[in-house]
Amino acid sequence: MTNKLKYFIGNWKMFGDFSSYKIIYKINQYVPKHKKSKVVICVPNILIDFFKKRLKKRNLSIGAQNCSHREGYGPFTGAVSAKMLKKMGAEYIILGHSENRQEGETPQLIKKKILSALNQKLNVIFCVGEKLKDKKKGKTFSVIRKQITKSIDKKFNKNKIILAYEPVWSIGTNKIPRVNDLEKVIKFIKSDFKRSFKTKKIPKVLYGGSVNKKNVKSLSIVKEIDGFLIGGASQSAKKFIDIIENYYK
Ligand code: PEP
Repeated sequence: MTNKLKYFIGNWKMFGDFSSYKIIYKINQYVPKHKKSKVVICVPNILIDFFKKRLKKRNLSIGAQNCSHREGYGPFTGAVSAKMLKKMGAEYIILGHSENRQEGETPQLIKKKILSALNQKLNVIFCVGEKLKDKKKGKTFSVIRKQITKSIDKKFNKNKIILAYEPVWSIGTNKIPRVNDLEKVIKFIKSDFKRSFKTKKIPKVLYGGSVNKKNVKSLSIVKEIDGFLIGGASQSAKKFIDIIENYYK
């Protein structure tokens, strides 16, 4: 088993209330057994402060799932800025998720969000991935290249950006890419990122989409994957912990 740090990042989506602290508590208790893992749970904004305050010995980090592209404070009803999330205790933030792109988020808007998050020194988990129709037309690489180059500026601090490859057709569908295809895409993202931004730094790239305790073993074969973004299964402490356990088995 590899010695490299692996990320296990939960995306709770529109899930959870104060009673969900029991899930966070269990995951937090479990984490220290795997020193080579970084565990983050991205929760709804209303729970960030509540969870942070209750976790005395914190083995996991809490993240947010989106933010306004507006910085700081201002007359933007219902909006929550990266600054506000940071103050609540978020250390990570998911941006560019396909569910938000679906709601109309453009690459330009995502770029502003990434910048505002970086300005707050949040760690950005930036999601990219093709739709099924793109995959069928053989456009996976070109779609991903566009998503990356349109939303990441050369001047952004790349050390604070983790990419998450999430094929849209695999989110919540129980379908995962073939291992060979996945390996090619992750390698492409890493090399193309270096080429596009003329950097020697190899970015961290996670895989996300229907990860569960059964398929994580086959996904672990792809050495280039730096971890996983886990949606539905992260809403259960058992399912989430089983994924980490099976990954290291
Ligand atoms: C996600 O929404 O980021 C995700 C990976 O979802 P799921 O694991 O439920 O497919």
